[in-house]
Amino acid sequence: MTRPLTGEPLALDLVNSVWVDQGRRLDQFDEPHGLENWLADHGMSGTTADSTAVRTALLRARSALRSALDDGDDGPLNDVLAHGFHRPGLRDGAPVVATVTDDPAWLPAWTAAADLVRLLAERPDRVRHCANAACVLWFYDVSKNGSRRWCSMEVCGNRAKTARFQKSHPRR
Ligand SMILES: [Zn+2]
Repeated sequence: MTRPLTGEPLALDLVNSVWVDQGRRLDQFDEPHGLENWLADHGMSGTTADSTAVRTALLRARSALRSALDDGDDGPLNDVLAHGFHRPGLRDGAPVVATVTDDPAWLPAWTAAADLVRLLAERPDRVRHCANAACVLWFYDVSKNGSRRWCSMEVCGNRAKTARFQKSHPRR
């Protein structure tokens, strides 16, 4: 079973690396090559850090993102973000921003955690939980009128439509 790819921003895509399929909680990082695939999907496969340490840091960041989003608890996310910072500078006269972490293993995790701060600075009202209460996925609504309700129309949107239809057309 592969994860439904939602194409969400980095922070939410890390959050969404845990999902529920038919009542079962699945974790991309438990799958063979799950970590490598996730890093490659986000252009971060170049890390020379130990993959166990990278995985541990990502799991910390994921649970911190969940605490911030699900429970409104900022503490764990701030702890993750304490492992790095952005350092603006110039290269040949052009502006550059480097990401500096205290350990290279923290780079993917820190980058994902910082991405949520960016989203919340940009459009806090657009960072939303899927309207299907049984779904654990989050999304960033970039639609013009902000009317998106589902992680994916194909999965949760259609499920809701079917449920509504069955309610209004009871079988005899
Ligand atoms: Zn959903």
